Amino acid sequence: MKKSQASNKTKYILISVITVIALAVAIGFIVFFSNNSTQNNPVEQQNQKHIESNEPEESTEQEESIENSEADKEEGLESTPDEEEKTNEEETQNETPPAAEEKDDKVTKENGYIVGQMLPTEPTYVDGVLIANKKYPLPQNYNPGENVEARAAFEEMAQAARKEGIELTAFSTFRSFEYQQSLYKRYVDRDGKDNADRYSARPGYSEHQTGLAFDIGEVGKEDLWLTSEFGESTAGKWLVNNAHNYGFILRYPKGKEEITGYMYESWHFRYLGVPLATDVKNSGVTLEEYLGIQ
Ligand SMILES: [Zn+2]
Repeated sequence: MKKSQASNKTKYILISVITVIALAVAIGFIVFFSNNSTQNNPVEQQNQKHIESNEPEESTEQEESIENSEADKEEGLESTPDEEEKTNEEETQNETPPAAEEKDDKVTKENGYIVGQMLPTEPTYVDGVLIANKKYPLPQNYNPGENVEARAAFEEMAQAARKEGIELTAFSTFRSFEYQQSLYKRYVDRDGKDNADRYSARPGYSEHQTGLAFDIGEVGKEDLWLTSEFGESTAGKWLVNNAHNYGFILRYPKGKEEITGYMYESWHFRYLGVPLATDVKNSGVTLEEYLGIQ
């Protein structure tokens, strides 16, 4: 009996030891796998993001934007404060996916521009009207020079103004893609991209590239050129009231920045020809609204 008791005791100890080891191993596995899956989470999220990004529409551009900004970094290219901000937001978004929808809006549209949009091979006409704005760019090689008809109309208008003691001058009319490129860059360097986008077009998007846009000022009052004060001067007011009779409209009126994409520009006139300019002027709306392309 004693022998059997002793052997039972040994068995009992053995079973206990094996159980403890088995438990330890099991706990070890659980701890190991739970750590591992936490580490894997960001990767899974990223994979998920890539899958989402392969879906059509908005997400694709978001992906491109990320790739572009990464490419910029690799190439050591200048990154504007705006782009840096975006990259930071992207990183934040990886941690909080619910913000995705809001983010998409911001990425696909930047200061009125469609991010990732390519310049077209042909200019856009709506109801026979050549359009150049933040949504409808021109081909890079679209290079018509100053429009002859618009120049003649301007001279006629200047002559009429002269009779009232106003000496008008068009200090900027046709601008090539390349010129606009250097001009826009200069403004971005000076005021930053967000500010520059309010008053200067990116290359390919300027109405000046059509040869139909005339920046007008008064000779001898150069300090008012390119200012909103020009709109309150005698010359500015005369233009607002009479330009349509010569085929021009004030293209970027007050309070229409959301529609035209530009702040009030008292000096920027667009030639449309007398009938259409008169119609647009009388309608009291912007060219975008008039043509239904806002
Ligand atoms: Zn202009």
